[in-house]
Amino acid sequence: MSPVRRVQVLVVGAGQAGLAAGYYLRRTGLDFAVLDASGAPGGAWQHYWDSLRLFSPAAYSSLPGRPMPGQAGQSYPDADHAARYLAEYEKRFDLPVHRPVKVLAVEDAQDGGLLARTDDGTWHTRALVSATGSWSRPFVPAVPGRELFTGRQLHTTGYGRAEDFTGARVVVVGGGNSGAQIAADLTGHAAAVRWVTRRPARLLPDEVDGRALFEIATRRVTGGGPRISDLGDIVATAPVRAARDAGLLTDHRMFTALTPQGPRFADGAVRPADAIIWCTGFRPALAHLAPLGLRGGERGRIATAGTRAAADPRVHLLGYGDWTGPASATLIGVGRTARQAVAEITGLLR
Ligand code: FAD
Repeated sequence: MSPVRRVQVLVVGAGQAGLAAGYYLRRTGLDFAVLDASGAPGGAWQHYWDSLRLFSPAAYSSLPGRPMPGQAGQSYPDADHAARYLAEYEKRFDLPVHRPVKVLAVEDAQDGGLLARTDDGTWHTRALVSATGSWSRPFVPAVPGRELFTGRQLHTTGYGRAEDFTGARVVVVGGGNSGAQIAADLTGHAAAVRWVTRRPARLLPDEVDGRALFEIATRRVTGGGPRISDLGDIVATAPVRAARDAGLLTDHRMFTALTPQGPRFADGAVRPADAIIWCTGFRPALAHLAPLGLRGGERGRIATAGTRAAADPRVHLLGYGDWTGPASATLIGVGRTARQAVAEITGLLR
């Protein structure tokens, strides 16, 4: 059995959130390691579909200490560019990333520290930053008859390129960015695209991109301005605008059940379909923290004070969503929350 490895701080996950934490930890002189379940760098960016473009220009998609370089010929870079940027980032700052190492469970150690059990041995740490994102926990809602549909069903995580649906009748479910982007992507390839959402889809004003979203989130932190959710849910990227302006991106209300042939809508009509793409979101990947018994937040989440687990000052959560800091699930926003997490951890350990 391999010996228990010891660090002062353990970061779980080497996506943008884990790397931002690593950047600030590097400057503290604390001994730390970053464990990542994936075999390659880039976090969720390595898995996105071909046509995905960032919400913001490169200069507004940067982690601390290293601006994202522009991508030739693209004002809004693609996902591969973001993945390459993260790969270069961890090298440049010589971050101690170990992969592939999956953290299975984090438990209390007898000496007041934490034990992280992994598929490659055990680590002892005094503080832990969980930055595991949500890509590994796709969510599909329970819909009557889902198992009856004889066509293809896939989640956003399984979507690669529109050409795979040439000539097919596709139903895209979900009123967020993924649903809008994938529905727009399919137009011109699929024989028919029906975009269904629970509530009427709300596109943000055309001039609101990721840069503007960050400014709005920052104004909220400093005490004022509208909430992003008051303005809309979906960034009107260029392909989304083009599909909308061509009249090809219309949202319809959610169906009530699935039949073998396709969805049945509230008026009783069944629309035959060949494929259903569930762009219905994700849940935070936090199963490894279950043994610590942290909960107490809204909707079964871990209650947080900033990035810190309210019930355990040794544990910080980074990324995931606004409940772990404003804009903390974005490249440009996660630096601020990572800095705060590392400052608190440094205070705790010294
Ligand atoms: P991830 O990138 O998911 O990284 C988590 C890492 O943790 C992974 O490498 C994973 O392997 C690892 N991991 C998971 N579980 C374990 C475990 N138990 N043990 C060890 N390792 C583990 N964001 C922007 O900033 N700008 C944009 O323009 C933008 N556009 C988007 C467009 C779309 C359509 C979508 C769907 C998302 C977009 N995002 C954008 C969001 C962004 O991609 C994610 O929020 C971001 O990747 C989350 O980063 P993360 O580091 O929190 O998690």
